[in-house]
This record gives sequence, C-alpha cells and structure tokens, in this order.
Amino acid sequence: MKALTFQAEGDVKVIDVPKPSIKGSGDALLKVTLGAVCGSDLHILHGHTPMNVGAVLGHEFVGVVEDVGSEVKRFKPGDHVVSSFFTSCGHCALCRKGWFNQCVDKGTFGHGEYFGGLGGGQAEYVVVPNADHTMENIPTGMSDEQAIFVGDILSTGFFGAERAEIKPGDVVAVVGAGPVGLMATMCAQLFGPSRTFVIDMVDSRLEIAQELGGIPINTREVHPVEAVEKATDGIGADSSIECVGLLPAVDTAIHCVRGGGTISMVGVPSAVLGDFPFMRMWLKSLTFRAGWCNVQRYMRPLLDLIAAGRLQPEKIISHRMKLDQAEEAYRMFDARQATKIVLTP
Ligand SMILES: [Zn+2]
Ligand SMILES: [Zn+2]
Repeated sequence: MKALTFQAEGDVKVIDVPKPSIKGSGDALLKVTLGAVCGSDLHILHGHTPMNVGAVLGHEFVGVVEDVGSEVKRFKPGDHVVSSFFTSCGHCALCRKGWFNQCVDKGTFGHGEYFGGLGGGQAEYVVVPNADHTMENIPTGMSDEQAIFVGDILSTGFFGAERAEIKPGDVVAVVGAGPVGLMATMCAQLFGPSRTFVIDMVDSRLEIAQELGGIPINTREVHPVEAVEKATDGIGADSSIECVGLLPAVDTAIHCVRGGGTISMVGVPSAVLGDFPFMRMWLKSLTFRAGWCNVQRYMRPLLDLIAAGRLQPEKIISHRMKLDQAEEAYRMFDARQATKIVLTP
C-alpha cells in the first residue's frame, strides 16, 4: 500500500510499504478514507520528535472498518469510524478514572517506535489497537471532513475551552489562530462568552477566526495584552486559551487575563523549562491549567454537536490534496501557506 514515511530530518516520502493486518484480538483494520496533516507532524519533520526511519506518519484519520479481531464488540466490517490519535486500554486505574490520555498502556499513531510502534493514518490502511476504546462510529450522513477532527484538534480545542471555565458573558482570549486555536475559538462559543478575542499574526487565519465568532487581534499591528486591556476597560480577559506552546505565547496568555482569571494551555510547550511568573500568578490569584487532550472522553459528545449543527470543524480546511502529494502538503503547511490540509488516499 501507499504510505507517507519518515526518511530523515526534513525528509518525508510516499513509498510502497506492506499492508498492515490485525495482530491482537482487540484490533481493527481500517481502510483510510481521509487523513489530515497536523502541527505535531511538523515536529517530527523537523526532528523535534524522535522518529525511526521508514515509520508511517499520520495520527488524524477516518476510515471504513475492513476487518476486526475476535474480541472487538462495538465495530464490524463496513462501519464508518473516526479514531482518536492515541490508543488507551480502557481498563487500567487511570482509564477507569476517565483520564484515558494518562493510560499506562497507550500508544500514538504515526509516531514510530518511540510512542508505541503504531502505524500511521497518512496511508491507505491502518491498524487500530483496542478498537472498542479508541474509535467512535460516525453518525449516518456525516462526512469524513466533518468527523475527522474529533480525533485530535477539535477535542483539543474543546478541552482547552472547557478548562478555561468560561461563564456566560465572559471575555475570552484565544492565543494562536492555527488549527487548534480556531477549534478553541469555535468551542468557546458553546460556553456563552460575550466576546472572544483571537490573537495571531497571520491575516488568513484571523479571517477564519472572525467567521467562527472571534474578534481578531493582529500582533503585527498592536500589542496583544494592551489590545485586550484596552477593550476591557483595563481589566483583562476572564480567561485565556493558549494554543501555540511557544513561551512568549504562554506569557501573553498569562498577562492578558484579569485577577482571579484562568489560563488554559493546550499548545505543545516549545521548551522543557522556562521562566514562570510566580509572583503575578500569586498576586492575581490566577489559575493555570495545562495539558494535552483526553480525546476519548470528548469524541462522542463532539460528534453529537457536529450532527446537531452546533459545530462546523470542516470550515478550517483550506486544502484538499491526494496522499501522493503529501510531501508538498507538509511543505505548504510548514510555510503557513495552508491553514489545514486533508489528504485522500
Ligand atoms: Zn494532531
Ligand atoms: Zn488504560
């Protein structure tokens, strides 16, 4: 089958690899019908995430079930499904507490041997272990483009918004209008804020943010913290959702929030350690939350919200390309010439 593989830092290639098959009794084999390129894929491309040569990339995908192991109960061949970007066992102590992303036996798709040795979804086929805990059925009539993002970035955006503790009437600041920031902007609206400021420097992304209910703040034109303060009579936002991970963006997310407010960080940190404004956090009684998304907990309700027309995550798709063009897709996404790219095998 065709698959996008990691070759070396800065080098990914579509090549022919053996078609995978189910190994465990809980596995499902999917024929991938749509995959997406994610910011995490660029971390691998640039060598910031360890990856073995030849491993198949891609962790955002939907597909049709072709085969299932003997113990899979929720799915059968022909089912149209979306997968989380990681697997969880579903029965360890942490899964039973509802924290599937902290599972003692997890693996991440498309991240090679260092993260569980799972295959990737930028391919014609992928095997999903622990399928009953990792996948959800896509409601009848919902398209691949509508469903695909519940497996990663839509769940992450919702997770960020939920943990920002937005109350009806609040002012929210979303830092970053990349795919996750746009999802956070969309999900924030479910909690009833009066205004959602979206901070970025790319005009095309800010335009989409505006369509999704955000008020753009372009950091090329104004200082973002000053702009939020000016718009809130000098008080600041009630909460912020940090969707970049670069330390200056985290700093903006902390400084644009009022006393007693909440900062919710979902961006992947760009450094292991760094300065943290302990005195400001203490003086202003701020709450700081950080973390990567516990996707399995959110897929079902988000699919229901999409089915009901309350969320339209497909709006952020800027480019539709073939798997054969994946190398070019990575280059374009890396150069910020595309907001979000989906790939058809
Ligand atoms: Zn992703
Ligand atoms: Zn577990």
